[in-house]
Amino acid sequence: MDAREMALHRAYEHAVRWLAGLSDRPVPARAPAEEIVRALGPGLPDGPTSPADVVDLLATACEPGLTAFPGGRFYGFVVGGSLPAALAADWLVSAWDQNCVMRAVSPACAAAEDIAGAWLLDLLDLPPASGVGFTTGATMANFACLAAARDAVLGNVGWNVARDGLTGAPAVRVIAGAERHIAIDLALSQLGLGEPELVATDDQGRIRADDLRHTLTTEAPAPTIVVLQAGNLHSGGFDPFPQAVGAAREASAWVHVDGAFGLWAAASPRLAHWTTGCPDADSWATDAHKTLNVPYDCGLAVVRDAGALRAAMSRKGAYLIHDERGDPADTVPELSRRGRAFPVWAALRSLGRDGVADLVDGLCRHAGEFAAGIAAIEGASVLNDVVFTQVCATFGDDARTDRVMSRLLEEGTAWISGSTWQGRRVMRISVSNWSTTDDDVARTLTAIRRAAAAV
Ligand SMILES: *Cc1c(COP(=O)(O)O)cnc(C)c1O
Repeated sequence: MDAREMALHRAYEHAVRWLAGLSDRPVPARAPAEEIVRALGPGLPDGPTSPADVVDLLATACEPGLTAFPGGRFYGFVVGGSLPAALAADWLVSAWDQNCVMRAVSPACAAAEDIAGAWLLDLLDLPPASGVGFTTGATMANFACLAAARDAVLGNVGWNVARDGLTGAPAVRVIAGAERHIAIDLALSQLGLGEPELVATDDQGRIRADDLRHTLTTEAPAPTIVVLQAGNLHSGGFDPFPQAVGAAREASAWVHVDGAFGLWAAASPRLAHWTTGCPDADSWATDAHKTLNVPYDCGLAVVRDAGALRAAMSRKGAYLIHDERGDPADTVPELSRRGRAFPVWAALRSLGRDGVADLVDGLCRHAGEFAAGIAAIEGASVLNDVVFTQVCATFGDDARTDRVMSRLLEEGTAWISGSTWQGRRVMRISVSNWSTTDDDVARTLTAIRRAAAAV
């Protein structure tokens, strides 16, 4: 065995041990970054170390600083795990080390993007001729879609952003719900569009379509982008797409949907009614590394007018080999990148259409079990309608909710984030991992009951 094979074998052994230990280890990391720095050794050595020894040191020193994100009892933020086929495919992506820039030089990447992209459009009920970009995550997917939106709405009034930039351009109105994700603000600021105008949301965080209509009609027509949401971070709620898209259409606005995790409702026949009207938008951002459970990092930018996405994202370089069918680099902000479509293809190929629906349904079923279990705890209440994967609960006043949260995290059975929603401190559960079992939910509910009884 040569040094490379030895290093790969060690990595395989460490990976398998890590994954096998997930169901029994405490979910939170046990050591802070400073301790991991000491264990890794902060000094740069003068000479070489064998690759296998480097892998051993890395795995051993980092282990206490790892959180069990891929395990069945991590419910913080919105974080998926890794389906076995997607994880294994991701290892191949590293070994293959393809640069997914050009169709002519990376034909396998282009093929995987073509197939996985078409499957995604089909599963998510989006227009089949849309452009699809495989980004690092939903933040950059929102960025790519909103770049296409900005350039298109300014193009409609005769302004060429690609050539003339934004200095001196007509003002662009960007309108979003008050409970949009912070990623929207990030993307807008990077695009030179400033902060969005906010429209009121209801008790589930959904945009109020009548307020949106009012906001759109109180000012003179201008290039306008309306940002809607499929899947509110706290409630899991979906904007009322038929009414909101209708209002935006009347104002000739570009409609963008941030559906980082919620867009996947469309893949489940039981849940697809939540995304009714959503396919009538112009662009959609979602993640593959959340609900679809591929390893980090992978988001998806989808734009109905494939040419608009390409116009915003691609430039011709004299040294590149351009393909008239379009190159993988034409749909994302960067040039060089890894083959993100391979794990997506593997996830979809291993699940099949029914498997994707079962995955999404299973996450929602577990969220419902959490809601029922928590509602039965004395002093606790669930604040949201549990329509998807998210549950927000309180345990009395803010101080007590925070104490229950701290107690739960100290105990380590599960990881759940605290948050503030509609003025109250909440325990916010997101069920996003394919590997969560009924037993994980039962163990977590027992831990929540213990924490609530103790404070
Ligand atoms: C997670 C999330 C984002 C940001 O996605 P990243 O993959 O972290 O870049 C945007 N919008 C919503 C609704 C999200 O849940």
